[in-house]
Amino acid sequence: MTPPNPQTNPPTLFPHQQPPTPIPEEPKDKQKNTLILDKDGKPCRLCTSAASWRNLTKQAKATPATTKSTAAVPSSPPSQDDCPPDVEVLGRSTWTFLHSLTASYPVTASREQQGEMRTFLNIFSRLYPCWVCADDFRNWMAEPSGRNEPRLAGRADFGTWMCEAHNEVNRKLGKKEFDCRFWEERWRTGWKDGRCD
Ligand SMILES: Cc1cc2nc3c(=O)[nH]c(=O)nc-3n(C[C@H](O)[C@H](O)[C@H](O)COP(=O)(O)OP(=O)(O)OC[C@H]3O[C@@H](n4cnc5c(N)ncnc54)[C@H](O)[C@@H]3O)c2cc1C
Repeated sequence: MTPPNPQTNPPTLFPHQQPPTPIPEEPKDKQKNTLILDKDGKPCRLCTSAASWRNLTKQAKATPATTKSTAAVPSSPPSQDDCPPDVEVLGRSTWTFLHSLTASYPVTASREQQGEMRTFLNIFSRLYPCWVCADDFRNWMAEPSGRNEPRLAGRADFGTWMCEAHNEVNRKLGKKEFDCRFWEERWRTGWKDGRCD
């Protein structure tokens, strides 16, 4: 199957398929447009979208002006590239890391390598800075039937498992699922049309 030409088709989550039709449903995520508090009761920036965060800070700044400012008004808003991450920036970077971890995992992992990765995932799922995300991820892995336990025998299993884990979050957020047959082209080899070469 040949992925579509990115020049003629808008980028999609499924580069090997036709662009998706708009999703009619509202995103199901309970966190959307909601300000999440940290465990200390203060707003959790890493658990919140940039839009919700900006709304909060806008409200905090909305005090009546008493003097007329003479400062020059910048012609365009300053870039936000170097601001602290929100839940989305953190998520994108972390998925890049996690899928890259699977891409560099041994084809067949030793008992020791499997043990190290299991330990990493357990610690990751406790320390991920968006605590609500971490809670859900940990609960998903610990699903009582055992069907979501990390599959660590080798790269193919682990890569597919990570893709399923990511799809679980995609579903929760009302996003399109990724076709896990293509995880390796996305994260290790590059697409077969050569655009990543
Ligand atoms: C463990 C974890 C839990 C999270 N939980 C939450 C949460 O509870 N609430 C919340 O708001 N955000 C959460 N996030 C962040 C969220 O998953 C997204 O990262 C964020 O919304 C930005 O999404 P995005 O559309 O830019 O693409 P991302 O979902 O970040 O994906 C990045 C790229 O990965 C590829 N991709 C997408 N799906 C898959 C897949 N299944 N397998 C392989 N590759 C794929 C696509 O090319 C995509 O462009 C979590 C992130 C992580 C790492």
